[in-house]
Amino acid sequence: MARLMNAKEYEESLRKLKLNVYMFGKKVLNVVDDPIIRPSMNAVAATYEFAHKPEYEEILTARSHLTGKKINRFTHIHQSVEDLVKKSKMGRLMGSLTACCFQRCVGMDAMNALSITTYAIDRKYETEYNKRFLKYLEYIQENDLVCDGAMTDSKGDRSLPPHKQADPDMFLRVVEELPHGIVVRGSKAHQTGAVNSHEIIVMPTLTMKKEDMDYAISFALPSDAPGITYIMGRQSCDTRKLEGLTFDRGNMFYGGHEAMVVFDNVFVPWERLFMYREYDFTTQLVENFAAYHRQSYACKVGVGDVLIGATQTVAEYNGTEKASHVKDKIVEMNHLNETLFCGCIACAAEGHREASGTYLVDLLLANVHKQNVTRFPYEIARLAQDIAGGLLVTLPSEADFKSPEVGKWLEKYFRTKPDVPAEQRARILRLIENITMGSAAVGYLTESMHGAGSPQAQRIMISRLVDMKQKQKIAKELCGIDQCL
Ligand SMILES: Cc1cc2nc3c(=O)[nH]c(=O)nc-3n(C[C@H](O)[C@H](O)[C@H](O)COP(=O)(O)OP(=O)(O)OC[C@H]3O[C@@H](n4cnc5c(N)ncnc54)[C@H](O)[C@@H]3O)c2cc1C
Ligand code: SF4
Repeated sequence: MARLMNAKEYEESLRKLKLNVYMFGKKVLNVVDDPIIRPSMNAVAATYEFAHKPEYEEILTARSHLTGKKINRFTHIHQSVEDLVKKSKMGRLMGSLTACCFQRCVGMDAMNALSITTYAIDRKYETEYNKRFLKYLEYIQENDLVCDGAMTDSKGDRSLPPHKQADPDMFLRVVEELPHGIVVRGSKAHQTGAVNSHEIIVMPTLTMKKEDMDYAISFALPSDAPGITYIMGRQSCDTRKLEGLTFDRGNMFYGGHEAMVVFDNVFVPWERLFMYREYDFTTQLVENFAAYHRQSYACKVGVGDVLIGATQTVAEYNGTEKASHVKDKIVEMNHLNETLFCGCIACAAEGHREASGTYLVDLLLANVHKQNVTRFPYEIARLAQDIAGGLLVTLPSEADFKSPEVGKWLEKYFRTKPDVPAEQRARILRLIENITMGSAAVGYLTESMHGAGSPQAQRIMISRLVDMKQKQKIAKELCGIDQCL
């Protein structure tokens, strides 16, 4: 039996890490209990806790193709189309249970992409990356670990390739080769769940050419390896988490986080290197990781479920739920949300087996799905804000609700119906605020836009992957152009 950790064991495993984390200009001495970071730890812990519940077991666990043991699906290498479909369902399920980014998909997507590319590099160059990778994977599965998937470099001037940057560290690179491994320097920006991870898996951020060979590297390290520093990103309304468990937080339990990760001359042993200067395989690794991660945006469908539920509730509290325009707007929210679900199920259902044995999603459909994700959550959020009313942004604090002087006025004037206490209305409004403009909007909106690549990245892939010649051929045949001279 592999070790399927529960939430408590996961939390304890994090306490053993010696992470070098900075936030608000100070070193964070106790990462696990920090009130700003902790909700994000709770969200990852939920991926452990719910995996033990019989009703979710089918979706949240899988059989390892390496050991045959039961493992958490977040550490699984997809072995069938059914696995790919279950992965999409897992994203929606976890999104609907936490209403935020639960962070564990990036590492899963990195491992699946590496399982394909390490195999492909070995076939061409007779290297042993796949053997190393499978050994690493077994370690991750046996210990049920969380991996940060680190692709995005700081990138400097976007118009220049890595070797032409004024500062050569703008993309992560090898700076020294030693007998037992290499030394790397650089940074990875926007790293989801970085300080809740046991391991960090690094990949190149874009297609590299020969001149950028030193940047064509992929490896995995323990998250507390010497020389790695984490600088926490801010989120709007983040300091509300310092106010204790008030309903002003919106989501009382869960959240997400991102961090800037700096690699200051970090040693990587050979056995943890999965790509080293094979620049001709960077396109494959980047495109496959991106496609898997674009599929992972099934999570937004789950968060959408919560937002739609909250919007229906506020409409009922306000007495507007029977108005035809409100009913129609809620239908539209559901229509958009289920359309997103169609995309992530479709790219999984159209998946195929790669030479390594790993199943890969349909690249075109995964890109189309993510393109929709860059738009639909914004429209769903707009409709939620429309129905919620202006109180969404003018609501006084929980402390005012509890105030002996003014609390009675809030209870009197914000009550909409005799059976709906004003506090209930305030709580549901705070949840909508949290998802559409508070700290969870990082995950629901801006991450939908830029995470797994900005919108233009998908449009480039769509234009490359559609079979335009075939479409033209059929059109020409049907109108008889091919019969003309
Ligand atoms: C919340 C969040 C979580 C994330 N989590 C992770 C993670 O866990 N791991 C990870 O590796 N990455 C992560 N990312 C990074 C994500 O993949 C990047 O944000 C995305 O690839 C865009 O890169 P950028 O943010 O540097 O924006 P930029 O590259 O600066 O893009 C901004 C705009 O400039 C355009 N642009 C950029 N370069 C060019 C160019 N050369 N020519 C023309 N136009 C250009 C883009 O199309 C876009 O419109 C996350 C991002 C967010 C927002
Ligand atoms: S944004 Fe979604 S897919 Fe990405 S790590 Fe968070 S929950 Fe997973």
